[in-house]
Amino acid sequence: MVRIEISREVFRNDLYALVKAFLPAEEISIKVVPELLEQILLDTGLFTEPGEHDAKRYAYRLFFNDERLASFLLVDVSDTERVDMKNRLKRDLYHVLSKRFEKELPWGTLNGIRPTNMAKKCLESGLSADETKEYMRSTYLVSDEKNDLAVDIAEREIRILSGFRHNGYSLYIGIPFCPTTCLYCSFTSYPIGAWASRVDQYLDCVEKEIRFTAEAFKDQTLDTIYVGGGTPTTLTPDQFERLFTCLEKELDLSHLKEFTVESGRPDSITIEKLRVMKKHGVTRLSVNPQTMKDETLKLIGRHHSVDDVRRAFVDAREVGFDNINMDMILGLPGETDDDVRNTVEEIKKLGPDDLTVHSLAIKRASRLAEVIDKMGYDCIHTTDNTMKIAEQGAKDMGLVPYYLYRQKNISGNFENTGYSRPGKEGLYNILMMEEVQSIVAIGAGTVTKRLLDDGNTVRCDTHKDVELYMNEIDEMVARKRKLFMD
Ligand code: SF4
Repeated sequence: MVRIEISREVFRNDLYALVKAFLPAEEISIKVVPELLEQILLDTGLFTEPGEHDAKRYAYRLFFNDERLASFLLVDVSDTERVDMKNRLKRDLYHVLSKRFEKELPWGTLNGIRPTNMAKKCLESGLSADETKEYMRSTYLVSDEKNDLAVDIAEREIRILSGFRHNGYSLYIGIPFCPTTCLYCSFTSYPIGAWASRVDQYLDCVEKEIRFTAEAFKDQTLDTIYVGGGTPTTLTPDQFERLFTCLEKELDLSHLKEFTVESGRPDSITIEKLRVMKKHGVTRLSVNPQTMKDETLKLIGRHHSVDDVRRAFVDAREVGFDNINMDMILGLPGETDDDVRNTVEEIKKLGPDDLTVHSLAIKRASRLAEVIDKMGYDCIHTTDNTMKIAEQGAKDMGLVPYYLYRQKNISGNFENTGYSRPGKEGLYNILMMEEVQSIVAIGAGTVTKRLLDDGNTVRCDTHKDVELYMNEIDEMVARKRKLFMD
């Protein structure tokens, strides 16, 4: 049990995230104790009569069970120094936790989802690669290995993004149905078995949103389309035909650089569906095993086998897809280094063009959280070693890292990394992660982001509940209209 006392609600989330990264299995409570400031000022001999300066002073105290681990005092924090003070506080806390629990975090004190963005900003501001690494190391205590990875990816992204026009946008279409629900799922996902008869009604709504997009973006260039989910391949061939025909009728696809359909669950992929996709210009697929161990596939609730993965991949190649991504997850319950090695070897035999390596994220909303309660946190085995096995495997397949992101509660405090053959990078992934253009997201449980001229983004979302999304489709379109046209 970790107890954090804070004198005011300042840097609360930052402290929580850092302690959680060190001690993922511990319960953490944070309490505001206003008198803490006076206590610590007295302890340190810095006490002066209360006055205006108190507004610029913050105190923190940290306990592990009944052991007092540390007290921190920030004094004279001006608005301009706030970020520096926060980084210093996090570094101090990091050192205390690292020493006490004999642990280092690969990304140091960075807890944002886009560490490469930091490297990219440094490089774009004119710093050299070495200067960028030094800044990341001294400010955030990022390890040498992750520094190399972040700068390598940032340099590659800068090169790739330079090929995009300023007035481009991308389109995401969410199909929120899946064959079954995976153990770790926290996405919008409805079992197709129960919803099959409503899918056409759902597509009516998607089409309405596509027509709005055509109107709102008639003067802009559509760069990429990504159909994700859920599992888009739960659509029938006729439903795919309908969706793609609508896209072709309503939007100008002549400048499209990439058209991805996530075909995540091999048990939902058929030759007929693949042919419809190919006929309509889909350029990139994702066939996701997550693991090549049947026992784990069963445990995580994916009702398909390793053989299904092989069959779907070979079918996709036969239909002519030359850009196929595969996803794998490190840290699946009970999986060891050998299991990860086996998954990498089996994937290598298929020879995908992209490989996305995920570190398992433990979301409270997922059934996985219950399994961990039962099996204990030790059943999750994401280590430096498993990361290295996957990284080496990608290298052996001729793939290089091109995008990276992190999630909350990611196991081992690692990251998700996309590897690809040069020239086969998932462009939508980079555009979405780096927020360099507007992304129009259609369907239930999606988030649209509008890029403003000053580089900031504003968002609007749609209902996660499919029924509600369909019932209130006009309101969903009105939200987008307000975001883009007001
Ligand atoms: S395939 Fe993806 S969206 Fe569907 S249940 Fe599994 S994790 Fe969730």
